[in-house]
Amino acid sequence: MAQKDPPEPCVRCAKLPGEKDKYCTGCGAPLVNRCFDEHGPLKKGCNAVNDRDAAYCAKCGEPTLFNLFGLLPGHEHSPFGDSH
Ligand SMILES: [Zn+2]
Ligand SMILES: [Zn+2]
Repeated sequence: MAQKDPPEPCVRCAKLPGEKDKYCTGCGAPLVNRCFDEHGPLKKGCNAVNDRDAAYCAKCGEPTLFNLFGLLPGHEHSPFGDSH
């Protein structure tokens, strides 16, 4: 991959990110649909980059960031969505 992909606009607010931004500066949404990488005693996720419409990681099956943030159309029921 010699050529660099231009930054894609934020999936939530369509703001164009900076070249090295990982999260949108306009709304805080993740800009890359990575595998959820949870740091803790039980490490889950592999941090792989998935397609923008992937709800689950193609490599390890953990939910992707876009899924967790509720950014995928039709996947609004996030594991973190129910707070009661
Ligand atoms: Zn945004
Ligand atoms: Zn993964």
